[in-house]
Amino acid sequence: MTSDDSGQQTRRVPGGLSLKNFTSPGKGPWSRVSDAEWNDWRWQLKNRLTTLDQIQPRLALTPPEAAGIKLSDHKLATAVTPYFFNLIERDNPDGPIRRQIIPRIEEMDTAPWEMSDPCGEDSHSPVPGLVHRYPDRVLLLVTDRCAAYCRYCTRSRLVSGVGDHDFHPNIEGALDYIGRHPEVRDVLISGGDPLLLNDEKLDWLLGRLRAIKHVEFLRIGSRIPIFLPRRITPELCATLRRHHPLWMSIHTNHPRECTIEMRDACARLSDAGIPLGNQSVLLRHVNDDPDTMKALQHKLLMMRVRPYYIYQCDLIAGSAHLRSSIARGLAVMESLRGHTTGYAVPQYVIDAPGGGGKVPVNPEYVIYRDHERVVIRNFEGKVFEYPEPQLDGQPSAPSRPVPLQETCSRSDE
Ligand code: SF4
Repeated sequence: MTSDDSGQQTRRVPGGLSLKNFTSPGKGPWSRVSDAEWNDWRWQLKNRLTTLDQIQPRLALTPPEAAGIKLSDHKLATAVTPYFFNLIERDNPDGPIRRQIIPRIEEMDTAPWEMSDPCGEDSHSPVPGLVHRYPDRVLLLVTDRCAAYCRYCTRSRLVSGVGDHDFHPNIEGALDYIGRHPEVRDVLISGGDPLLLNDEKLDWLLGRLRAIKHVEFLRIGSRIPIFLPRRITPELCATLRRHHPLWMSIHTNHPRECTIEMRDACARLSDAGIPLGNQSVLLRHVNDDPDTMKALQHKLLMMRVRPYYIYQCDLIAGSAHLRSSIARGLAVMESLRGHTTGYAVPQYVIDAPGGGGKVPVNPEYVIYRDHERVVIRNFEGKVFEYPEPQLDGQPSAPSRPVPLQETCSRSDE
């Protein structure tokens, strides 16, 4: 059973309720746990499912999943909060939530082009825990722990603490580096999940960063509103709002993740003045189809979360079974642009393998271009021509008349 927006009990439908509904996963197999415990984020963390013995009685695992869980302690640990676990469709062995968090034996297969550090972060790290890859911003990794572990995590080499990576961030060294680099105007705090730090530590860290005069803008990257929404307490929000301008990038992949609990957590953050953006990873059989992705973007907007990026899944070792094709990503983008409000259209990017940074990838809308004109197509496939202004003093002159019946008026949708 699930409860809907009005708190009424509704039966969970195989395949999910309408993708656009906000529901709560409820307690499921934890029905004997008190409401106070269930709603306590510390209880959720303490009772995460991390072993085969804990998961198997509650979910009929496939043999590849059981084998994957057994082996995950050598690569990227298994962990999922009871709350998020209850979003799994028990009757769908290929469901979108379990594909993200239940390991499979395929993770042990590594193709020659896959990497442990596909974004080249380690080679752009002047201080342990700090990545300086772009001119005006840095990434500060403050923890290697998350509330749950995503099987496609681009930092699986370091998160969860079971791999070979020696993660010992030098926070004082990082603060010193940022202070000595006036070009750094933007700090993204990530990990792991920084919202697993306690409020006092976050307050201290944000305060130290805010004290650096040239740092204009702070961001936190977190999946806590999705995995552990009750962690977004009023006290945490009061702490965060002391350090504005502070933005947050959350990471939602499928509309099922957008529950009543997540919506309430996002509302608390928004009410604290924190602009929210969402980053999704394009994942095979999770969100690599237009209907799912469009429903996700619409639900995000309903939660005051601006769709920000869709990432092509990085070439992380053992992720082939989760990666979708760029062709599918382009089809998803084609289905969004023009077909729904521009606020619901994130930027599709590939993080260039080896450390090249984010490269936007778009369906082709420019058909032809020379110094006199640009020929474009719109979302309906209609073709238009725009004359290039002649900036060297020559009058603007299209090489042929623009067909008036085809020109589209600009709308500010
Ligand atoms: S929450 Fe983020 S850092 Fe943690 S496992 Fe998932 S993708 Fe990786």
